[in-house]
Amino acid sequence: MRYAEVSVNSPVAQRRTFSYTIPSNLSVEAGQAVWVPFGDKLLQGIVVELSDYPSVEETREIAGIIEPRPLLSPSRVSLARWISEYYLSPVFDAVSLMLPPGFERKAITFISSPTTPHEYDTSSLPPKQRHVLDLIRKEGRVSLRKLEKALGKKGAQAAISQLVGRGLVMRSYELEPIKVRPRVELYLGLAVTADEAQQEAARLLKRKAVKQAALLDFLARQPEPLSWSEARQKVNCGKVVVDALVSKGSVKLWPVEVKREPISYAGITPSSPLPLTAAQRSALQSIKSGLLKSADGVSSIFLLHGVTGSGKTEIYLQALAEAVKLGKRGVVLVPEIALTPQTIGSFASRFPHKVAVLHSKLSLGERFDEWQRIREGEFDVVIGPRSAIFAPQPELGLIIIDEEYEWTYKQSDKSPRYHARDVAMKLAELTGAVVVLGSATPDVETFYHAQRGDYHLLQLPERVTPSEGSSLPEVEVVDLRQELKAGNRSIFSRALLQATAKAVANKEQVIFFLNRRGAAGFVQCRSCGFVLRCKRCEVALTYHFAESVLVCHQCNYRMAVPQVCPRCLGRRIKFLGIGTQKLEQEAGYAFSPARLLRWDSDVTKGRHSHEEILNKFRAHEADILIGTQMIAKGLDLPMITLVGVVNADTGLNLPDFRAGERTFQLLNQVAGRAGRGPLGGKVVIQTYSPEHYAIQAAAKQDYALFYEKEIAYRRQLRNPPFSRLVSLVYSHANDYLCQREAERMKRLLIEERDSKGVDDLTVIGPAPAFIHRLRGRFQWQLILRGSELSSFLSQIPIPQGWTVDIDPVGLT
Ligand code: ADP
Ligand code: ZN
Repeated sequence: MRYAEVSVNSPVAQRRTFSYTIPSNLSVEAGQAVWVPFGDKLLQGIVVELSDYPSVEETREIAGIIEPRPLLSPSRVSLARWISEYYLSPVFDAVSLMLPPGFERKAITFISSPTTPHEYDTSSLPPKQRHVLDLIRKEGRVSLRKLEKALGKKGAQAAISQLVGRGLVMRSYELEPIKVRPRVELYLGLAVTADEAQQEAARLLKRKAVKQAALLDFLARQPEPLSWSEARQKVNCGKVVVDALVSKGSVKLWPVEVKREPISYAGITPSSPLPLTAAQRSALQSIKSGLLKSADGVSSIFLLHGVTGSGKTEIYLQALAEAVKLGKRGVVLVPEIALTPQTIGSFASRFPHKVAVLHSKLSLGERFDEWQRIREGEFDVVIGPRSAIFAPQPELGLIIIDEEYEWTYKQSDKSPRYHARDVAMKLAELTGAVVVLGSATPDVETFYHAQRGDYHLLQLPERVTPSEGSSLPEVEVVDLRQELKAGNRSIFSRALLQATAKAVANKEQVIFFLNRRGAAGFVQCRSCGFVLRCKRCEVALTYHFAESVLVCHQCNYRMAVPQVCPRCLGRRIKFLGIGTQKLEQEAGYAFSPARLLRWDSDVTKGRHSHEEILNKFRAHEADILIGTQMIAKGLDLPMITLVGVVNADTGLNLPDFRAGERTFQLLNQVAGRAGRGPLGGKVVIQTYSPEHYAIQAAAKQDYALFYEKEIAYRRQLRNPPFSRLVSLVYSHANDYLCQREAERMKRLLIEERDSKGVDDLTVIGPAPAFIHRLRGRFQWQLILRGSELSSFLSQIPIPQGWTVDIDPVGLT
C-alpha cells in the first residue's frame, strides 16, 4: 500500500483527511504520527488508513515519522473517525483526544547524511555547503537551528536546499522535547536526637508554644523523616511553626525530588472483597458472564440501578478483579475527580499501586508520564473524568461509568462535543469491552434502553445495611404557599426551622441545599406557586429584564409579564431568586450561634479547595453547610441528620425539557446525604409545587414513579429518547444580524429537508439562547428534532460563527 490517509493538524482540514504518498524508505501504519507538508508548512498528522489508491490525483510525500510506534490503536482510530462523523467535528479534534498530552508541539528539523550516501567530489562545493557537510561529518546529525546560527538563517537554508537537491544530506523531524519539571517536596525530620527533641518539646509547652511542641513531639515519634504535606495533615500546623523550629536548630527541612505516584497511599490500607448480598451477587454474576463473552469480542452493556448505599462500588471492584483475572484492564469514569475521593480510595485499597488517576491538577509533564505508563500497561484501572475514556489503556475489558446520568460526561464547551457514555459504548463495540453504567437515578434515556432490553438491567433495590436501622431517610415536603398564608415570610419554613434548631442543639450536622443556577429569571406567583410556561414547549418562560417580557427559549414565544396570576388571580407575581450568599446571611440570623460553612464554586474558586471545605465539615468545625450542586455529591458523613432543600422549584423552572429529570436527580442525591449514620436522617423539601411529579417521586425516593410520568411526557412531546436533538447556535456581536442569520439557516434547513424528503425532522426556533449574551456576543439558537441528524447536517454548509451540538444537554 503506497498511500496514507492522514488527519492533519490544521484548522483548514475540518472533517477531511488528506492522501499522501508513503516514501519507499518509510514504513507507515495506521495510528502513527507523521510529519506532512501542508501548503508551505510542515504539520503533524495521524495516519488513519492505508490504501492502494490515493483519493486525489496528485499527492505529496509524507515527510517523516514522528514516532515509530503508532499512538492510536486500530480501535481508537475507528473511534476517532466515528466521533468526527457523529459529532460533526474536525477529524484532528477527535484524534487529539487520544494523543499523549502535549503532543501538539513544533518540529525540530535535523540535517544528516542520507541513509544511502553516494560518491561526490565535495571540494568543488561553495564554502557554506562544505561547512554544513563538515559539521555533519563531525556530529552525525545537526539541528537546523545550530546551522542557522553558524551560517545565518538565509545562508543555512539555501545551502541545505542545495545539498538536499544533490542528495548529499537529508532532513528529518522530531518533536520538541516536553519540559518535565521534576516534582520536589519538602521533607522534614529531627536535627537532634529523639530524646533531646522530647525535652525541647516539654520546654516549649511550658512556654505555651503549643503547636511547636506538638510538631516536635510528633517528629520525635516518627521512625523516618516525612514530607511536609503529610506532616501538616497529621499535626495541623502552619509553615511558621516549622520555620520557628528550624531556626532553633531542632528540625531540618530539605527538598526531595519525588516520583509522583498518582495516588497518595499514605492513609490507604489494602482491602479484600466483601461477601456480597444476594442482590449484589446476582448483579455481579451477570457482569461476569458479560466479561466472558467479551473474550470473544462481544460487548455488553449493563445498567446497574441501585439506590444510594446499595453497594454499587463493591460490584465495580469485584467486576474489575474478574476482568483482571481474565487478562483485561478497566477504565472508571467519575463525574468530577475532586468530589470522588471515596471512590478513588476504594479502588486504591483494592488494587494497590495499580490505579492511575487522571487529575486536572497534574502538570503537563506529569500527564505525559502518566499517559506513557498507562500505555505500557502498568495499571489495572484508570480512573478519571470524561476524558479518561480516551486513556490508552491496553486490553480494555471493562468500562464503568459511575453516576452515568451526570451532565459532566458531556463536553459542551468545545469541539468535539461528545458524550463520554456514548463514546464508551462505541469503544466497547469496537473492542468487545463490557460497559457498566451505575446510578441511583438513571438517565431516563438509559433506563428506557434498559427496559427495552438494549442494555441488561441490574437492580439493587435496597441499601446494604451492616446493622439494623439505617434505611432511607424520612422526607417531608413543605408547601411554601401555606407558609405564606400562615404569615411566615422567612425563607425557612416552620418545619425546617424546628428541625434545624433541634439538630444543631443535638450537635448533629445540617446541609442546606440551593440550586442557584436555577435561580435565573423565572416568574412565579408566591400565593399559588404558578409558573408561566410556553404552551407549545412546556418549558418555563424566562424573564428578560431589558424588555420586561417573558420569553420561551425554545421557540421564541413572547408575552408581557401579567399583573395578576392567571391561576389564582393573586397579585403576588414575583421574580424569584435567592443565592447561597443571601441564604448564608439568613441562616446566620435564624440559627445563631450555629457555625456556618458555604460550599459553592465562588468559594472553591478562591483559596479554599473542595477538600479543605470537606475536611472542615468532616471535623465538625461547622454545624450547617450551605451549598449548591456540589453538595449533592461525594458527601458521606454520618453526622448529617438533616438536609434542607431551600427551594426545590428553581431547577424545575429552567427552560429545558430535562428540568423535571434534573430536579428529581438532584433532590434524590441531596436526600441521600442524610441518614448515612446510626442517627438516621430527615430531609425537608421546600416547594411551591408539591404536586409536581418530580418532587413527589423524589420525596418517596421512587424512581419508577418518576420514570413512568417522565417517559410519558417525552413520548408525547417527542423528546429524547423518542427523537434526537441538535442545537445550532449562532453568535454575533450584533443581535439583529444574529437573528437574521438564524432565520436564514432555518430556511435553508427546511428547504434541504423538503427537497430530500426527510419527513421526521422539525426545526424549532430561532430563539435567543438561554444565555442570550455571552462575552459581548449575542446568541440565537435553532433546535433540530429528528432521527438521522448527523448525516443530514453533514451535507449542509455551516458557516463560521455557528456551533453545532449533537445530543445537547443543559442550556446554551
Ligand atoms: P453506592 O455506591 O451504591 O451508593 P456504596 O458502594 O457507597 O453504595 O456502599 C455503601 C456502604 O456499604 C459502603 O460503606 C460499603 O463499603 C458497604 N458495603 C457494600 N457492599 C457490602 C457488603 N456486601 N457487605 C457489607 N458492606 C457492604
Ligand atoms: Zn415555546
